[in-house]
Amino acid sequence: MENNLVTTAYIVASALFILSLAGLSQPETAKRGNLLGILGMAIAFGATALICQGYPVQIGSIGLGVLVGVLAAARVAMTDMPEMVALLNSFVGLAAVLVGFAEYLQPSAALTGTDITVHRVEIYIGVFIGIITFTGSMIAVAKLRGWVPSRAVLLPARHLFTLGMLGAIAFLIVPFLTATGSPGIWILAAMTAIAGIFGIVIVMAIGGADMAVVISLLNSYSGLASAAAGFMLNNDLLIITGALVGSSGAILSYIMCKGMNRSFINVVLGGFGETASGSGKAAALVGSATSTTTGEVVDLLANAQSVVIVPGYGMAVAQAQHPVAEITRILRAQGKQVRFGIHPVAGRMPGHMNVLLAEANVPYDIVLEMDEINDDLPHTDVVLVVGANDTVNPSAKNDPNSPIAGMPVMEVWEADTVVVLKRGMSSGYAGVENPLFFNDNTLMLFGDAKTNVNGILAQLSTSTAPAPALSAA
Ligand code: NDP
Repeated sequence: MENNLVTTAYIVASALFILSLAGLSQPETAKRGNLLGILGMAIAFGATALICQGYPVQIGSIGLGVLVGVLAAARVAMTDMPEMVALLNSFVGLAAVLVGFAEYLQPSAALTGTDITVHRVEIYIGVFIGIITFTGSMIAVAKLRGWVPSRAVLLPARHLFTLGMLGAIAFLIVPFLTATGSPGIWILAAMTAIAGIFGIVIVMAIGGADMAVVISLLNSYSGLASAAAGFMLNNDLLIITGALVGSSGAILSYIMCKGMNRSFINVVLGGFGETASGSGKAAALVGSATSTTTGEVVDLLANAQSVVIVPGYGMAVAQAQHPVAEITRILRAQGKQVRFGIHPVAGRMPGHMNVLLAEANVPYDIVLEMDEINDDLPHTDVVLVVGANDTVNPSAKNDPNSPIAGMPVMEVWEADTVVVLKRGMSSGYAGVENPLFFNDNTLMLFGDAKTNVNGILAQLSTSTAPAPALSAA
């Protein structure tokens, strides 16, 4: 009876997870998708609790987990979300490692014959994926927080080192499968240490602009780690959930790689083989930047018919999305064409800009992907670049020696006038100088993006009657 109930609950939870993913694929249905996911997880929790023993331990650990999770999620700033996601990915990896060790020391089912070997293989693979997810995600957190350099850090003879580590991991499985008792746990510990270093080395080798793909790849690994834990624990729901996260993360990583003109295999193997970036010296920048004022930008906007807004990480830092949406509302009410151009890796997590714009109620139909809007930029009067840098860097297209050479970017320099809102001349996440700032048709509006956007908004508002609410065109 209890088993039937649990099986039914697992099927319902799995269906809810699939519906949740379907909902999350569109901004319009994302909230519903999220709610379905929460409902599925609550059902999964309840059903799993039903089949576990030791209620006090369960209630204690789940209660503590819920408390920490709710507090962390409530306190985290939107700009710190990518680190939070990477940290959560690392916990999934660590959990798979701990489950693997626990399963080796005290298997949850009495196994005999070949079942023992199969179970050992599951443990070995689960711990391997789990520890790579854990250490790789910790390095991703450190890179995102700026604790370690965001540029690619390459060890001397790293290909040899990487191959050596993979060889040792592949070799150690043989004695692990035949060992009994404590030698087995030491072999597992040795593999864990080597794979942990492997995770660190491959993520350290990824350069700034490619980190976006790595974050989504680590998310995919965390799904595989969950699936591996599901095999170890013989839990179907964990296998299904892990497979869903693993495959959707892998598909997202592949799409991002294609969008950024990077080799998926290279990124998976930590930039193994050819390097994604140019090998020579990046071209030196010449010229001087022209600064502007909010008043001048208001005049430019008044004379423009078509405006494209290109947001980047700086908009998230400044939390400028609401006044940006207000400006959009006013300009559209004046009959101007205003659209947003979103680079696939703008911000610090997949879909970062779309989330911010949705939060500010910008209609989805004026938010276009880079590929959809790049061809229109030569016919655009004014482009407002709000806190974007790497994603609008022309050297990706024009300088084969640039570290971001080959990465498709928003070709904002093709517009009549480009206004860049940022605080100073510092580089973006990839640490690459940006020649856009020195172009003749570029004006720099220095200062915090929110302060400046509010300044533009205030002057636009005084010169216009109140605009109607934003609605889909
Ligand atoms: P960048 O990181 O290239 O640049 C952001 C710019 O915003 C900075 O140059 C900074 O200049 C400016 N800025 C910061 N704070 C403010 C503020 N308060 N007001 C105004 N400007 C501000 O951003 P992009 O979005 O163009 O590119 C994203 C980068 O991050 C890419 O290299 C991408 O690969 C990488 N990445 C993306 C991930 C993703 O999943 N999307 C994940 C990990 C990395 P200044 O200091 O002068 O103000």
